[in-house]
Amino acid sequence: MDNCIFCKIANGEIPAATLYEDEDFRVILDLNPAAKGHALILPKMHAGDLFELPDETAARALVLAKKIAVKLKEGLHADGINVIQNNGEAAGQTVFHFHVHLIPRYAGDTVNVTWKPGTLTDSDRDEILSLF
Ligand code: 5GP
Ligand code: ZN
Repeated sequence: MDNCIFCKIANGEIPAATLYEDEDFRVILDLNPAAKGHALILPKMHAGDLFELPDETAARALVLAKKIAVKLKEGLHADGINVIQNNGEAAGQTVFHFHVHLIPRYAGDTVNVTWKPGTLTDSDRDEILSLF
């Protein structure tokens, strides 16, 4: 993808603060962090979102997320960590190259990744269960 900023970062054409790199991934610090240590896991291959990502790469991304999250959490003395992955504009995706957010959380911080809990209706439950 010629015009994809994360392709360029992942493949080293544009510099970024890199926490980890291997043949298939680069892990960088987010330029506009939600919290100290906010990192992004980028595959070097272009996939617009999770649905375009090969299963093997998707599986490796979560294992890598765990490995980096452990180091961030211990090294920064975080109290928790959110692992977030957005697909589609409606879901908050702004860069259309698959990435996983690692957001260290500190007790009492003001990071907002919450939602207002709704109520599961009988009709929604039945509709959704019928899909599977
Ligand atoms: P999304 O909203 O697509 O899930 O997340 C995109 C993330 O990429 C945002 O948190 C944003 O701050 C980060 N970001 C966008 N452009 C750049 C960039 O050029 N460099 C880095 N390091 N992060 C970026
Ligand atoms: Zn890309």
